[in-house]
Amino acid sequence: MSKISERGRFCAVCGTMDKILLDNLCETCYKKEHPLDIELLKSLNVEICIDCGVLRVLNTRIDPHVREENLEEVIREVVRSAVLSKFHSADPYEAEFEDDIENDKIMNYGVKYFELKTKIILQPHEEFSPFEKDFVTRLKMKRTICNDCSLYKSGYFEAILQVRADKRRLTDDELDRFENLINDMMKQHEDSKLSYILDIKVEPDGITAQVSTKILASNLAREIRAQTAGKLSTAYEHKTTSKDGTEVYTNTYLVRLPAFGNGDIINFEKEIWRVRAINDDQVRLESLTNHEERKVVRKRVEISAKKRNDELVPREYMLVSTEGQTVVIMAMDNYENFDDNLERLPKNKAIGETIKGFLLDEKNYYLD
Ligand SMILES: [Zn+2]
Ligand SMILES: [Zn+2]
Repeated sequence: MSKISERGRFCAVCGTMDKILLDNLCETCYKKEHPLDIELLKSLNVEICIDCGVLRVLNTRIDPHVREENLEEVIREVVRSAVLSKFHSADPYEAEFEDDIENDKIMNYGVKYFELKTKIILQPHEEFSPFEKDFVTRLKMKRTICNDCSLYKSGYFEAILQVRADKRRLTDDELDRFENLINDMMKQHEDSKLSYILDIKVEPDGITAQVSTKILASNLAREIRAQTAGKLSTAYEHKTTSKDGTEVYTNTYLVRLPAFGNGDIINFEKEIWRVRAINDDQVRLESLTNHEERKVVRKRVEISAKKRNDELVPREYMLVSTEGQTVVIMAMDNYENFDDNLERLPKNKAIGETIKGFLLDEKNYYLD
């Protein structure tokens, strides 16, 4: 009886004997009875923007430029992971792929359909060799223009950035600085298709730029404000029409630069001063009578000071000699010597040193 029992281990379906059995079935019959219960995607749409190369698969946006790979390889990687993204297995598995994707066929010949073959190899039972199942996913390549590119093409923008100066034009130096600042900040957004400046005018009267998004315009305005002690104001819902005729509500971010800036020469309380610094509330002034510094409420300066930059004539001097509080100065343009007061010179000037300054209202002033 015992012999029958040992020998009697046979497959319940095909009757084969002396094989490893699971649930009374041999490997072949077990695999037939229990095929892998998995499904992979039968079809998959791949959208490719012909303008920027961005891919959209299963609602995910992939930018090949960011990945710096060739398009064909990127598509391959993306469709493989899309196909497996719906597949979950408690047992470890391997996947083998084969496809007929060709970059040229997609981009140059507009071929729409390709095939991805996937083989899933899974070993749920140690007793048996791995189970395998093949799938075919039909890939549909759709060449389109992505949302971001079509917005850009339509001339869409949400905000206007303006930089103006209070009661004056902007200096060349300021214009250069802000243009560089804007360019530098835009470099941080190179990977973002929705961050762009559509049009920028850089003129002595000010800078005006059409900026794609409100957040970008606001960031640019804040940065310029922070570097200039300018004042930032926002006008909401200024309505414009984009190139394709859509009405767009636009915010305007205006940075108004102070009337006076570092280095300006001004008349204030009947004296001549040099502006050394300006912040939101105060102006730091250097007296050109004795080179003492003084902090003044910004508003007072803005109301009553007069800028003299345009009237002064730059001049160079040399300190010839000193005697007590009296100094002898030579003007370098005509070698004329004259007396002046020591306190009118910048501190710690040695005999023989040159001094930069200017002539204003027929009087000499010394700066550095
Ligand atoms: Zn069998
Ligand atoms: Zn695009």
